[in-house]
Amino acid sequence: MSTIQGKVVIITGASSGIGEATAKELASKGAKLVLAARREDRLQKLQEEIQQNGGQAFYKVTDVSSHEQMEKLADYALKEFGKIDVMVNNAGVMPLSPVHQKKINEWDSMIDINIKGVLYGIAAVLPSMRERKEGHIINVSSIAGHLVFPASAVYSGTKFAVRAITEGLRIEEASNNIRTTIISPGTIATELLESISDLELKSEIIEVSKIGIEPASIARSVAFAIEQPSDVAINEMIIRPTIQEL
Ligand code: NDP
Repeated sequence: MSTIQGKVVIITGASSGIGEATAKELASKGAKLVLAARREDRLQKLQEEIQQNGGQAFYKVTDVSSHEQMEKLADYALKEFGKIDVMVNNAGVMPLSPVHQKKINEWDSMIDINIKGVLYGIAAVLPSMRERKEGHIINVSSIAGHLVFPASAVYSGTKFAVRAITEGLRIEEASNNIRTTIISPGTIATELLESISDLELKSEIIEVSKIGIEPASIARSVAFAIEQPSDVAINEMIIRPTIQEL
């Protein structure tokens, strides 16, 4: 039996891409899921699919950039399932643009969703994990959290921040038996490019992203990190398409 069986897992950004694939993978291994994102129709459809396949999932419409909504998400998971074993802070946006274009609103939304969303997710689950002296926080960074590309200054800034925050959390919470994992995907075939507003840049990036692999590859990596024995922490993983150079 997988050690994922019966674990209560919250997944943010579960309405598409990596989050959705992760939900399906973990549900198939017996996890009890709480799915979060803003698009209710997608969450509802995913919940139904998981339930039809014999899995367990609830959902709660949540904007990760709201501290209050993230606290309510954790409260909901505790009310429905009595504990939170794993938090997957996956929600993110990537409206790439060069700095000189001054797309201030897009900078704000990347900082609010990609950095503050992760912090609020940690804040919401940490008290109950510390109390139980058990838990696992998985934060989705990116290859752009290791390397900076043209037009990725702000996005990379947010993803470098996710890695720094997760490493800090690891050091602080190791003695409380709380595991942390940074997942850094390379190019994955999802809807992420939709948030790029510069149409010329978007079509260039769509072209180079044709090498993207299925989000299920990341879902399997998340499952691998969770299913290790509790004294083993997979702290960081980079998962790229084999043919991706950078
Ligand atoms: P998608 O666009 O398919 O998924 C993004 C998810 O984030 C959606 O479910 C979206 O749901 C959710 N989301 C966005 N903003 C918010 C918000 N304010 N509150 C709650 N949920 C939100 O892209 P991916 O699956 O690719 O992205 C998942 C993560 O993977 C991101 O953090 C991304 O940066 C990272 N990543 C992706 C790579 C790729 O090549 N695809 C590479 C490296 C990292 P909704 O709109 O319904 O709220």
